Amino acid sequence: MPDKLYLIKEGEISLKGGNRNLFEKQLRHNIKNKLRPYHSDITKQKGRLYARIADEAPDDLIAKALSTTPGITGFARAHKAEKSLEGIRAKALEILPSSDFCRGGSFRITVKREDKSFPLNSHDMACELADAVFSLYPDMTVDLKRPDHTLTCEIRNDVYLYTSEEKGEGGLPYATAGKGVLLLSGGIDSPVAGYMMAKRGMKLDAIYFHAYPYTSELALDKVKQLASIIAPYLGGLHLYVVPFTDGQVHIRDNGYEEEATLMFRASMMQTAERIASGCGASAIVTGEALSQVASQTLDAMSFTDSMTDLLVLRPLVGMDKEEITEKARRIGSYETSILPYEDCCVVFSPKHPVTRPVKEVVRRHFEELGMESFIEKAVEETKVYVFDPMGREIENAEA
Ligand code: ATP
Ligand code: MG
Repeated sequence: MPDKLYLIKEGEISLKGGNRNLFEKQLRHNIKNKLRPYHSDITKQKGRLYARIADEAPDDLIAKALSTTPGITGFARAHKAEKSLEGIRAKALEILPSSDFCRGGSFRITVKREDKSFPLNSHDMACELADAVFSLYPDMTVDLKRPDHTLTCEIRNDVYLYTSEEKGEGGLPYATAGKGVLLLSGGIDSPVAGYMMAKRGMKLDAIYFHAYPYTSELALDKVKQLASIIAPYLGGLHLYVVPFTDGQVHIRDNGYEEEATLMFRASMMQTAERIASGCGASAIVTGEALSQVASQTLDAMSFTDSMTDLLVLRPLVGMDKEEITEKARRIGSYETSILPYEDCCVVFSPKHPVTRPVKEVVRRHFEELGMESFIEKAVEETKVYVFDPMGREIENAEA
């Protein structure tokens, strides 16, 4: 069965010195995992990966798999040519009619001649290929700055031609920088926070605190949908759904109203810590941004930090809502995040929350609340949903 060939460009990985092999190996593993149903074989050559993927794999599925995999800066469907002037020209004439070139307009030829022993230099090779284009499409024009189409020819050990390059996510492959748990709510921020840490190489599972029936089943569906949307960037994930209604009600009925959010956040940290230890994570990731809401002041964040020994990472801390929203739109989570089902933070929010808590005082209040048994029970009753690297939920998966 013939295979399709994709040329994949690595970004930051190529800057890695001694560890480069490790990063590359993980990236290859991540790509293979995404395309699991379609046998793929990935080889490398300086700064490039070449993936052979079964012919029956749909192009849009491959494009989605590659464009959402951190560590890839660009990719293109490529065609191997015989390593000679005639061979390259013949391959160009063969592939151009089924490429965008057939729509006409302007073009440029880019030749990358890594193999300096190849008899033609880059400029001469480009002229030969331009000539091939004109022989098919005499009305096209050359535009080196803003061409409608580009034909690229890479001359390395082998020769590859490609016409349409797509952009990748950049960053580093997930699972090269340890593991964290993402506190995933139904809002705009936390999916973006997870995406950003995954792009820095982190492997993530997610935790959602559900307060049924104060928050509806629809709110849970929304979070599951968000988990499915970010799953491709994370290489799949487990979503831990923690039933926290009893804990929330206990806080509401026995705590100071203005401290309710802080008490809930402290409980979240301690619950997350337990789940993290069960799934091998050593950091907690949240979607907080400084001063976005009352519980995100320096004092409040410093209090929540003090409730766990784990590292708390807040990748959005210095971003404003507009920047976060733009990223949410790009990764495709925005439309789901703005669906109207409220999360439990909103339902139990105090009217006048404290913004400048004194750590020692609120810590004492938290201890007095005796959340331990609620946390323990919630962890015991936690349900797990599993999403594969393409975002599909795996029913009946072993958690
Ligand atoms: P988001 O848009 O991510 O919901 P937000 O601006 O609404 O954030 P908060 O509701 O204060 O802010 O939540 C801050 C962070 O706490 C969230 O980004 C998320 O990481 C975590 N969080 C809040 N509610 C929940 C929940 N029900 N389950 C899990 N994590 C939550
Ligand atoms: Mg929220």
